[in-house]
Amino acid sequence: MPVALDGYDMVMFGIGRTDSISRNPVPAVAGAAAGAALAYFIPSVLVLPTFWKDPPESLPAKLCRWRAATTHPEVALTFDDGPSFDTARTLDALDELDIQATFFVLGTQMCAQPDTVLEMAARGHEVASHGFEHRHHLLSSPRAIRTDLARAVQAHRDILGRPPRFYRPTYGQLCAATLIEARRHGMEVVLWSRWGKEFAESDPDPVLRRLEPGLVPGAILLLHDNDVSCRTGTGALTRRVLRPLRESLQDKGLKPVTLDRLLR
Ligand SMILES: [Zn+2]
Repeated sequence: MPVALDGYDMVMFGIGRTDSISRNPVPAVAGAAAGAALAYFIPSVLVLPTFWKDPPESLPAKLCRWRAATTHPEVALTFDDGPSFDTARTLDALDELDIQATFFVLGTQMCAQPDTVLEMAARGHEVASHGFEHRHHLLSSPRAIRTDLARAVQAHRDILGRPPRFYRPTYGQLCAATLIEARRHGMEVVLWSRWGKEFAESDPDPVLRRLEPGLVPGAILLLHDNDVSCRTGTGALTRRVLRPLRESLQDKGLKPVTLDRLLR
C-alpha cells in the first residue's frame, strides 16, 4: 500500500513511541505498527464492497450515514464531483421538476466555477463537500487527508461564507483519518443507500432499474451530473434520468429534499 507515514502520522496513531518498550523491542514495535495500521484501514476495508454492490452499511450511523432513519416520505438526491461547465443545465432541469438536491462538490471544481456554486445555494440546493481533490483515501497519508479536507472546507468558507455540514469521501472509501478530519471540521460523513452507476451506462433504463428498489423513505441516492471524473456524456445521461426518476418518486408518494432536511 503506497502510503507514506511521516512524523505527524506516527504521532496521530500513537506509534513510534518506543521508549516504553524495553523487552524484545523489534517484535513489539512491529506489532504496535501492525495494530495501528489495522485500526487505520479497518473502515476502508469494511466499505470496500461499495465498488461491487450497494453499501452493506458496515459502519454505525454515528460514524457514517447511509440513509435517514425516517418513515417520512422523503428521499435525498445527491450529485458528486461537480460543479462542471454544464451543471447549470442540471440546475435548470431540477427547477423544472421541482427537485431540491444536494451537491457533493470538489474544492478544485468550486474554485473553477464559484458562480455555479453560488447559484446552487441560491436555488435552494445543499452544497456539501467531496474533498478538495478527487483523492482516494486508501492511497493517501493521514497528513494528505488532513490537508485535503482543510482546503475543501476553506473553499466553502471563501465562496459560500460557511463550512459544509456534510462530507462524502471519494469512491466511498474512508479510513480513520477521514473520520477524524471530518469530525475536526464538524462535518457529518454521508455515503448512500443506492447509486445509479450511470457512468457505466448509455441509456437511462438500467440506471432507473438499479435505483428503483431503493426508492423508499429515507433513501440517499447517488448520481453524477458531470463528466469531471466520469466518462464523457455522464452528465447528459443523468439529466435524462431525472424526469422518469421524479415520476417514480411521485408514484410512490416520495418527495426529493436536501440532505439537511432529510437528516434533520
Ligand atoms: Zn467522486
